[in-house]
Parts: sequence; C-alpha cells; structure tokens
Amino acid sequence: MRKLAGMRVYAIPMRARFRDIDVREGVLLRGSAGWAEFSPFREYDDAEARAWWSAAQEAAEIGWPAPIRDRIPVNATIPAVPPERVGGILSRFSGCTTAKVKIAAPGHPPAEDLDRLAAVRAALGPEGKIRIDANGSWEADTAIRLLPEYDRAAGGLEYAEQPCASVEELASVRRRVSVPIAADESIRRAEDPARVARHEAADIVVLKVQPMGGVRACLRIAEEIGRPVVVSSALETSIGIAAGVALAAALPRLEHACGLATVGLLERDVVADPLVAHDGALPVRRPEPQVELLAAVEADDATSAWWHRRVDRLRGRG
Ligand SMILES: [Mg+2]
Repeated sequence: MRKLAGMRVYAIPMRARFRDIDVREGVLLRGSAGWAEFSPFREYDDAEARAWWSAAQEAAEIGWPAPIRDRIPVNATIPAVPPERVGGILSRFSGCTTAKVKIAAPGHPPAEDLDRLAAVRAALGPEGKIRIDANGSWEADTAIRLLPEYDRAAGGLEYAEQPCASVEELASVRRRVSVPIAADESIRRAEDPARVARHEAADIVVLKVQPMGGVRACLRIAEEIGRPVVVSSALETSIGIAAGVALAAALPRLEHACGLATVGLLERDVVADPLVAHDGALPVRRPEPQVELLAAVEADDATSAWWHRRVDRLRGRG
C-alpha cells in the first residue's frame, strides 16, 4: 500500500461515550504548510468525507488566513449526565463562563434535562451563559412547547442549537419562541448552507472547519449567511482544533464563545501543549505533534489500513 509521507492513523479512546463513539479515529498528515487532521466519522461516505479532505489539504499545503485576535473564548460542554455530575464536569473547563448542555438525548425525559439545566445555572451563577443542543431531535411542536420551559429552568438561554432537524421546522420554531435559534446540522450537512439564511431559520450559525471544507470555505459561508458564528470542533486532537481556532481568529466578528474546548473529551492528545481552555479561552497558535505522543495513539493495522484506503480513494487513487 502506498503511504503518504508523514501520514499517521490514530485511535484515541474517549473519556466518555460521545456521539455514540468510544474511540476517536483519524489521520494526521504533514504538508509544506504544517500538520493537518482528517477525521470524518466512519459512517460518512466518500462524498461527505470530501469536504473534510479539502480542509486537511488546506491545513497541510496552504495554511490559514492571518488572525485578527489572539484568544478565542470557549464554552464548556455538558453531556447528558445527572445533575450531581455537572459541577465536576464544569470544573474541568478552566474559567469558562458559557456552557453548552446536551439535551433531548434518546431515553432521557425532559425532566432530566430541566434538572441538569438548573444545576448548570447554579454552578455558573447569574452571569454565566447557557446554550442547549438538541441535535435536531424534536418535532417543531415539541420545540415550541418545551423551549420556554427549558429557558425558565436554565434561568435564560443564550440560544437553542438545532432544536429540530429541518430548515423549515427551525424557521417555524424561530417565529414562535423568543429563545434565539442556532443552526448546526442544517449548515454542515446541507447541500446549500445559505438556505438557513433565506428561510430566516436561525439567529446564529455553527461552523465546523472539517465538514465545511476548510477555514476559507467557512469564512465565505459566514459572509454569505451574515449571521453571528460559533466555531465548533468535530472532536479533533489539538491538530484539528488549531484549524477551528484559526477560523475563529480570522472571523471579522466573534460574539459568542466557541465550541473548541473539546480536546479534554479525548483520553490523550498528540501535542505537548494541548489547546485546552485557560481563563475561559484558547490561545491562537498551531501546536506540533510529538513523536512519542503520536506513537502512543497509533491505530492497529486493520484500522490503519481502513484509513489509508479512505485517503487513497479521496486522492483519486482508490
Ligand atoms: Mg450541534
């Protein structure tokens, strides 16, 4: 099998199951501009993975636009955990005053979400910001009924991310509730991200560098959509997070904390100076992997072969 120079396949256990995965896998590769991460989820087909490959090519061969800020405020993330675990999780995000709370997880009734939101508000205090993410799980009727309740339980929501799956539902919910609406899946898995703007379906858009095809592609989409942007990760190591940081650093306006403090969801990282939050923010920089740390997360032969085949197909050599 042909080996790309400097290409490493990694497999890193997650600290807690997230997005139904226990082990995060992907590729790190080095080009003339630096290291890049390529880590579309396994179930994505090549058509969907192509944008992720473009993002990796940009990082490896072109590099990113110059930053206009040097620190990126970031949010804590609270998975669907019981309220008593909220404080411990928040304490791992140094200085973060914004929390994103996962809600509407299968098998978890709304009452559990409401208790979790109350616990987050108690931990953050009145100045903290709380946003929720339903990953498109609700019908429009459900969202219209429950969002005011969630807003009350949280003592005010910054916004609700992707309460429903479709752009049309988001638009109808947005017309009926006062909680601001953010679009995530409706942007990054859509053929035409600008539909969200044309349908007036969101107040805020979530952009992720890999699924949107790179930092420059995201900057173009942000300009076209003309809404405030929250840059989020796709659960990368610090190598991939650096691309999100580069986007957040280059956006003309940045009004909300970004979802880039996710390296801690992985058991290990590949850099000696990980992009983790200090005083609620990430520094704008591009860390380099360390040989020993790369060796410690190297995938087994079968996993490695699978990723090499995926990369070969995307490079048109499959
Ligand atoms: Mg989301």
